Amino acid sequence: MKLVIAQMKHETNTYSPVPTPLARFAAAGATPPVGAAAVAAYRGTGSAIGAFIELAEQHGAEFVVPIAANAWPSGPVDDRAFDHIAQRICDAVAGGCDGVLLDLHGAMVTQSHEDGEGELLRRIRALAPSVPIAAAMDMHTNLYDAFAQRVQVIAGYQTYPHVDMHGTGLRAGRALLAQLQGRARPTMAWGRQPMLPHVMRQGSDDSPNRELQARCREMEAQGALCATVFVGFPNADIEYAGLSAVVVTDHNPALARRWCDELLELAWSQRAQFVYRIEPLADSMARARALADAKPPGSGPVVLLDHSDNCASGGTMDTMTVLGAILDAGLDDVAAFAVFDPQAVQQMIATGVGGSVTLSLGGKLDMPAIGLKGEPRTVSGTVRLICDGGFRNYGPMARGEYNDMGPTAVLDTGRVKIVVISNHVEPHDLAAFTAVGIAPERHRFVMLKSRIHWRAGLRSLAHAVVECAGTGVCTSDYAALAFQHVRRPIYPLDAL
Ligand SMILES: [Zn+2]
Repeated sequence: MKLVIAQMKHETNTYSPVPTPLARFAAAGATPPVGAAAVAAYRGTGSAIGAFIELAEQHGAEFVVPIAANAWPSGPVDDRAFDHIAQRICDAVAGGCDGVLLDLHGAMVTQSHEDGEGELLRRIRALAPSVPIAAAMDMHTNLYDAFAQRVQVIAGYQTYPHVDMHGTGLRAGRALLAQLQGRARPTMAWGRQPMLPHVMRQGSDDSPNRELQARCREMEAQGALCATVFVGFPNADIEYAGLSAVVVTDHNPALARRWCDELLELAWSQRAQFVYRIEPLADSMARARALADAKPPGSGPVVLLDHSDNCASGGTMDTMTVLGAILDAGLDDVAAFAVFDPQAVQQMIATGVGGSVTLSLGGKLDMPAIGLKGEPRTVSGTVRLICDGGFRNYGPMARGEYNDMGPTAVLDTGRVKIVVISNHVEPHDLAAFTAVGIAPERHRFVMLKSRIHWRAGLRSLAHAVVECAGTGVCTSDYAALAFQHVRRPIYPLDAL
């Protein structure tokens, strides 16, 4: 048995000004890893592609990995980058194989295609009309028919934060292997609801997504090969942004349809629960101070979530609204992760550890799609640390995967330690802090540019959480986003 195993992952925020060239898909180096380097990068990690490699090796299958391309979310993918990735995968498939295992995101938009995964599948199918294909996909998939009708198996993450990427790879891969070995005949049903669940209400520890995902797991325990609810990614102004469901059964199309419809009905009945209510930032600052004043000695920090500027939702990670409010409020003993500002890092490197520096920090990127200009903030302090910014996740999310923050420095204002980085990395893993010599549990406050994923590695440390509405292209305020292409009517943009 010969398999093609490949990865193409990008969540595209169509409002994001952050460019997405091919180099963004490379953790270190100008191009994403291929062949043995790709296998070495992902074997043994908590990723879907890592699970595919394990399955292939366990089954004694011959396999090739033409590319493993994974980029932090940003604006639409450069056509040249997409063409490069797709061509590598297509060439491998054209070389002959019995099955294809794809580790995809599901919300990729390119300069030319609003359904990047659908375009990839169109190109693969032009070469190999009937080879069985399975895909492991992110819960934030925005599902298009052009994609779904060209694959045999879809399995999506059932957790957010995404701590089951590896398990999702196993679910997708086992279903495809069962097909290739003649033990199963996967049949799939899918559908969408006209609803845009807010990201801040999508956590799988919270209702209603907790119950939706539990029902998916129950269906799998009852015989579904894979059952998935995609909550969708709403900061993408494309026709089919939003919630969808897919169920794969073993040769039982009627059951797949019935279960898929049940998941869609359940989601629709809970649509109001997916609406997020924003707290004014001044109220958040006052509440954070009160929570810190009342917390018992030795308890963990009050976490301040800057949820409008999360680089894992395409945020520039350089808006200064929340950090500015923290500085203005005079909050003390704060660790802030992180501000993306390569220029400021270089200035701190030139200053050297122990030196005093005044920075025009952040705000380098304008955000024309939401009508905002970047606004730097003048900040003075001492350079506490300079490092190369490389670390490997402890887990549970993306365990063992390598992160590259690029040249990184820590500025200490006396009240706030600000981590400044040169590549986008979301703080969802304690290793991000240990890499820069900060013990977050020791601080009174921790500011994170994150939405839900921080819970994976840091939630257990927190005494309390305050969700702070700043500015940025992953804003939780739909009114700030000019939706022009998403299908209408859709809830909650329209009263349905
Ligand atoms: Zn996701």
